[in-house]
Amino acid sequence: MPNPVNSPTTPETPATASASARQAGLLVKIETDRRLGHEWDEWDGKPLPNAGDFRTTTGKYFLFTAVGLAGMVAVGAVGIYLLSPRLAQLASWLPRALYIADVMFAAAGALWLALIGLSYATDRALLPGRFAERGLLLKTLRLSSRVGEVFGVQRDWTDNAAVTVYERLAWAREWRVRANELLILIPRCLSRAALDGVMDIAKRYDVATFVATRGAYARQAIRERRPKAVVAVACERDMVSGLRDVAGRLPVLGLTMQLPNGPCKDASLDLVKMEAFVRKYLK
Ligand code: SF4
Repeated sequence: MPNPVNSPTTPETPATASASARQAGLLVKIETDRRLGHEWDEWDGKPLPNAGDFRTTTGKYFLFTAVGLAGMVAVGAVGIYLLSPRLAQLASWLPRALYIADVMFAAAGALWLALIGLSYATDRALLPGRFAERGLLLKTLRLSSRVGEVFGVQRDWTDNAAVTVYERLAWAREWRVRANELLILIPRCLSRAALDGVMDIAKRYDVATFVATRGAYARQAIRERRPKAVVAVACERDMVSGLRDVAGRLPVLGLTMQLPNGPCKDASLDLVKMEAFVRKYLK
């Protein structure tokens, strides 16, 4: 039987427990009404593009990250140019040194992105984790989606592309844990069918599952249970936030969902992929 995990409750939240969850020994709290996560505060109530399925090619992540890094280099160069008279008063060599540093940053950024692209294309972890999906890559997640928004691309598309790149790199590393060292994190917005599917997987592999009603509770569950690896399910927005918070500290495989009825309600997911993620981590 999976280890029981209690999900924190909020007093105003009506909750029900699914039959399969009870069978699996899990205490699950599910809202029956839509309550938007803060990531969706600005949602206008209209149907989401492509029926909430933001699966896309990874080109958006690479393109917008490259543009973002180039923009940082350009802003740096303009700043140095505008300040160079003052800088030269401090030390005559200072503007030149800063220009060189700016060029080195550009070269390092281009090389890094090329190596991430090569890792992605070859399915091989070419960089140490802290220079890839457990470090530098996490710092570019927001950059790419912000740049995408400047070009009119809704962040969910870019976030999906970024999570796909992250996931490929995380998959390329070997990391095995026992069932009681793995934690499955799922959101409160899954459809009944999706929830039952996840619970079935959790039961078959004897893995604890935590239904996170908020990102803070997910982090709390990780602090308390101290898993050695996590399989997390969330929408693209929540996934990017969660990865930035957690993936630097422990191995995480993240699975994004589809939102056919809008955010925070009746989400569906690829259960075959979910099971593959669980199996990937188990000894
Ligand atoms: S994971 Fe679900 S509940 Fe959380 S913000 Fe995304 S859509 Fe809303």
